[in-house]
Amino acid sequence: MDCHRLLAQALSARVAEVVPEPTPLHELRQLSERVGRRVLLKREDLTPIFSFKLRGAYNRIALLDDEQKARGIIAASAGNHAQGVAYAARVLGIDALLVMPRTTPEIKVEAVRRHGAKLALVGEDYSEAEAMCARMVANSGMTPIHAYDDREVIAGQATIALETMRQTASDFASIFVPIGGGGLAGGIASVIKAVAPRIKVYGVEPDDSDAMSRSIRAGRRIALERVGSFADGVAVRMVGENTFALCRKYLDECITVTVDEICSAIKDVFVDTRAILEPAGALAIAGLKRLARACGVPAGTAIAIASGANVDFDRLGSIAERSGVVAQGRSTAAPSTSHLIVAQPKS
Ligand SMILES: *Cc1c(COP(=O)(O)O)cnc(C)c1O
Repeated sequence: MDCHRLLAQALSARVAEVVPEPTPLHELRQLSERVGRRVLLKREDLTPIFSFKLRGAYNRIALLDDEQKARGIIAASAGNHAQGVAYAARVLGIDALLVMPRTTPEIKVEAVRRHGAKLALVGEDYSEAEAMCARMVANSGMTPIHAYDDREVIAGQATIALETMRQTASDFASIFVPIGGGGLAGGIASVIKAVAPRIKVYGVEPDDSDAMSRSIRAGRRIALERVGSFADGVAVRMVGENTFALCRKYLDECITVTVDEICSAIKDVFVDTRAILEPAGALAIAGLKRLARACGVPAGTAIAIASGANVDFDRLGSIAERSGVVAQGRSTAAPSTSHLIVAQPKS
């Protein structure tokens, strides 16, 4: 089966050269109590580029032959893949050109610049940047490195599943994965189903950027007219051909969540870890909470992928504001203050 081929690719992926230690799994104690399941967060926000994208990008680029390396590489990206490509290109001594939408958060643009890559800011969203990138590839000699629809990129992202299974002896019942183009989810679902098919794999999308959910329902890839850009890391109008095939076959379910639910999940992760995730990075937790309310998370440990933390500092105010909108499943009455010692103003 295809999942076994992908497992083989993931097992031989060259990722340890840039992510030498497994990223940590941190228990979210307060959230675990609230949902009644032990929830472990896979900290992909702690890679050298603060997202998992280095895995797939490095694995793909390391496999290029010398002539391809000499001609350079080009990639379209919503921002995090660009950092992965730029970082890998620097390590491997390759020229890289990154094409990103003009709406890309400054923190992502700046990181790409710092890695010494060339960049072009074009179009309003990822899909427009991708179209421009495809035009630039023609006659340029540069090798395109796709952000998700590439077997070696998918296999690189899938090493997250291998790590997680080693870290836990596969002792978990479910894993929650954010979906943009579907490379991360397609890779993780394939490896899980090849090794431990009893584990449930849930994909999570924002409800205004749900190309995978719609495509799976329709049985063919659906192109969205427009996508919400709040979770800019997953704002993709159309999923990949390879990623669609893998997700359709191996995902157990797709969950969609609102922007307010994403903000609330960012807060949950902060409360339990003091880490701040970007909106796409907190999707998995938002999906887990949604499932817990809707029909329950399978008994046993749940894993959620914290996929990234590249958020502009000046967005945090509005995220914090929206995080309060979602009821936390508790009484909405004013909290009791009887246990608080209120300092009296000195007279
Ligand atoms: C790219 C990205 C995703 C989604 O990965 P895909 O392979 O495109 O589905 C999720 N979260 C973050 C932070 C990302 O950068």
